[in-house]
Amino acid sequence: MTATPQPGSDGIVGDDAATDALDVAIRASRSWLRSLPTRDVSATADVDQVTATLSRPFPSEPTPAPEVIRELVAAAESGLVATPSGRYFGWVRGGVLDSALAADWLTAAWDQNASLLVGSPAGAAAERVAAEWLKEALDLPRESGVGFVTGGMMATFTCLAAARGEVLARVGWDVEADGLAGAPEVAVFAGAERHVTVDIALRYLGLGNRRTRIIPADHQGRIDAGALEVALARDERERPGRPRLVVLQAGNVHSGAFDPERALAVAQQYGAWVHVDGAFGLWAAASPAHAHLVAGLRTADSLATDAHKTLNVPYDSGFAIVRDAAALHRAMGADAAYLIQDSRPDPFARTPEFSRRARGFAVWAALRELGARGLREMVEGFAAHAQRFAAELGALEGVTVLNDVVYTQVCVAFRDDAETDALAAALMAEGTTWMTPSTWRGRRVLRVSVSNARTTPDDVTRAIATLTRVLGELRG
Ligand SMILES: *Cc1c(COP(=O)(O)O)cnc(C)c1O
Repeated sequence: MTATPQPGSDGIVGDDAATDALDVAIRASRSWLRSLPTRDVSATADVDQVTATLSRPFPSEPTPAPEVIRELVAAAESGLVATPSGRYFGWVRGGVLDSALAADWLTAAWDQNASLLVGSPAGAAAERVAAEWLKEALDLPRESGVGFVTGGMMATFTCLAAARGEVLARVGWDVEADGLAGAPEVAVFAGAERHVTVDIALRYLGLGNRRTRIIPADHQGRIDAGALEVALARDERERPGRPRLVVLQAGNVHSGAFDPERALAVAQQYGAWVHVDGAFGLWAAASPAHAHLVAGLRTADSLATDAHKTLNVPYDSGFAIVRDAAALHRAMGADAAYLIQDSRPDPFARTPEFSRRARGFAVWAALRELGARGLREMVEGFAAHAQRFAAELGALEGVTVLNDVVYTQVCVAFRDDAETDALAAALMAEGTTWMTPSTWRGRRVLRVSVSNARTTPDDVTRAIATLTRVLGELRG
């Protein structure tokens, strides 16, 4: 046995040459974070320019690590989009809390393999505690199993894998053993405004896309519960008791709207497994003012959500939350003889990956930093900023807010589609703030999405002032 170096009073052991590259990285990280309040959101170089800077013949000889990192920083700088900037409102991206970022650095330094309990007791413990806190923070069914996955799409994939196995098992088919060939058909029902990643997850699972029964959505993008009921009733008449999945949504990327609770009740009445895509919307549960939006949906069979969006944890981090934890383990677990398995399920039995980083540390840190009050204030802050955007942008001449702003999303349209597109392009090029264009309900829109803990009231003021000025210039 080698002697173990003893940590100093600060818990940090020793000092060696390897810290040089880390020192370069930490200085570069600090300077990046400090630049955020003043730097433009947009990158100044495009992908081809950065490629040209980075590319060189594959080196024949090694290079000292600090030099490598300096070169990387120099080459990447101009091609970085300031996603963590307080003035970034594009897509739905989230920011990064200090504790979560620092914990993420440590996760890389510790280099734990989070697949097995014995492989990293600390990694598994952080996930265990973070999962309990998550369920408490969002008031989710406490018996749920939680898989620490890469994000919303893989959370939906993981949940629907558990769903597929369970609904088929109920009709006597073992999909884990026998696959889908020859299996009874699983009928999938989803709203017209489901997120595209739901379709991808269904495809990965062999359920295809063309067979999904698409249920119409209302003017806010919410699934029509009445239409869902009609579709399920018809299906029940045609194939009584057949395996069914219903995919609902908490938080529409355009309107922020939540599918109605009644859709869940209707689906349950027909024996369907109900999955909810709550990538950013599930976090409404942390705010008493918004919890009613998601109140009923929280009791679905499975829920997908992100940590790297609303919770402001670095990429890539999300949760597959499955009420019937055994169904999750059956879908994702394995029984390989060479593994030293605990009698309790190992972390790999809840995720599609085997070896993976210990995602629990950063999640634990974010929830520990915020606490219930911090989380509530963060979510309420996002919603308050969204209200301000809606009020002030909606007051501009020829600008219409298209959605009911119930949460963190604001969808605005300008005089016509051409003006909306021109404004979106001009705004992204100007660079002070980013809001991204999209099409919603047949119109081109500019989407303002608030999900970054760094955003201050002053950032919102600057973003609105920039948009107003750019719009004025455009209109001449
Ligand atoms: C972002 C998002 C997803 C996909 O999540 P990823 O973390 O990007 O995989 C799915 N659904 C909704 C509603 C989203 O906003």
